[in-house]
Amino acid sequence: MIPNSIADLQNAVRSKQISVSAIVNHYLEKIETSSDLNIYVRIFKKEAIEKAKSLDEKIQAGNSVGSMAGLVISVKDVICLEGKEVSAGSKMLEGFKSLFTATALQNLIDEDAIVIGMVNCDEFAMGSANENSVFGPVKNPLDPERVPGGSSGGSAAAVAAGTCLISLGSDTGGSVRQPASFCGVSGFKPSYGRISRYGLIAYASSFDQIGIIGNTASDINKVLEIMEGEDQMDATSTVFPKFIPAKEKVVGWIPEIMNHPGLDTGIKKESNLVIEKLKEEGYELKSFKFPLLEYIIPTYYIMTTAEASSNLSRYDGIRYGHQTKEKVNLEDFYRKSRAEGFGTEVKRRIMMGTFVLSAGYYDQFFGKAQKVRRMIKEDLEQIFKECDYIICPVSPVRPWKIGEKIQDPVSVYLSDIYTVIANLAGLPAISIPIKTSNDPFASIQLLGPKGSDYHLLAQASEFSDKF
Ligand code: GLN
Repeated sequence: MIPNSIADLQNAVRSKQISVSAIVNHYLEKIETSSDLNIYVRIFKKEAIEKAKSLDEKIQAGNSVGSMAGLVISVKDVICLEGKEVSAGSKMLEGFKSLFTATALQNLIDEDAIVIGMVNCDEFAMGSANENSVFGPVKNPLDPERVPGGSSGGSAAAVAAGTCLISLGSDTGGSVRQPASFCGVSGFKPSYGRISRYGLIAYASSFDQIGIIGNTASDINKVLEIMEGEDQMDATSTVFPKFIPAKEKVVGWIPEIMNHPGLDTGIKKESNLVIEKLKEEGYELKSFKFPLLEYIIPTYYIMTTAEASSNLSRYDGIRYGHQTKEKVNLEDFYRKSRAEGFGTEVKRRIMMGTFVLSAGYYDQFFGKAQKVRRMIKEDLEQIFKECDYIICPVSPVRPWKIGEKIQDPVSVYLSDIYTVIANLAGLPAISIPIKTSNDPFASIQLLGPKGSDYHLLAQASEFSDKF
């Protein structure tokens, strides 16, 4: 048996109860037997076996190994690994090989974690169902007819299907938390700036963070400790001061969220049960007004599409990635390469983003959204003066059937309502499964004030034992 937590794994490897090679072989087999779920887009079999062998030799010889020796991870196809292709689920980047490794990933590799492969995702991390990928949709391991969530659907499915212990995803508006909740695992997005974004393919830079998907909050905590930190290559990365709780045992909840007309009645019931259970456990549940809720989705989609339209202008077909085969003049070359390389959803967002930034509309859309974003941040700061966490659902809807919403992008956008709050305000947030529920998709989200990451993870661990 392969230990199912990082702590057990570290012990088993150090005490030579299990070899790293046996761990790697176990996961490689799992990847093979779950291949119909379409999770992996690249498998690094040879390198993983070789690395495991060299670690085993060191351990046998009594030499020291890194603290993550024995940990097998997968990474979303938007995180760069030197010498390997990275394609962001897009034809636009076909054949592109990365020249360097993302800092946060390198930190894990330096501690001897093994990267077993890259996993499927929505194109340029845009989506909530992993259906916008050039590699085709990922199937949900809990129910293969359903979507695994997105955009890090491959990462959540990889952990849920037992093909690795940890998967790195990216979270711009919920892409780590929502798929984790759809697949019955835990997903964490750190405070903006805690993890370096260097080597993460950009979607909307002021929202993007690399996030961690695992089975438990304590596993996530261990990985975060290694990944985090200031990085010269990312000016927005920073070291956070130690977090001091505002009010222990006070948990906030927001009536506008819990009574939202779009919230599935089953999810509402499950969330209310969690709130009741926390009260029984002696927590004080305090309600807070959040009148800006109805502006959350428009603000998020105006700002992220604007940032995306600018970020994605670098894909011109000249320097790297897809090039049209047609013999055309320079301007048409750009146009055709981009038209052939990008998928429908990415094009839709580039159009929307250039529109909200265009002269004449900037003040009406982008400028206004920036102001609303500030107001959202300020409202949340006020709330966090009186409580340490906000508890709320992860998604207002349950995982839908593959193909069911492909013609209805707006309904998919609306389903991001509870996750994008954390990204708009740069806050840490985690989604954890409600283990006591009969519904395998039941989960709950905890949001904390900026910098409270470790406190939030500890609280999530404590809560997981209670429900
Ligand atoms: N579903 C959201 C979107 O499509 C979030 C994506 C993400 O976090 N990368 O923008």
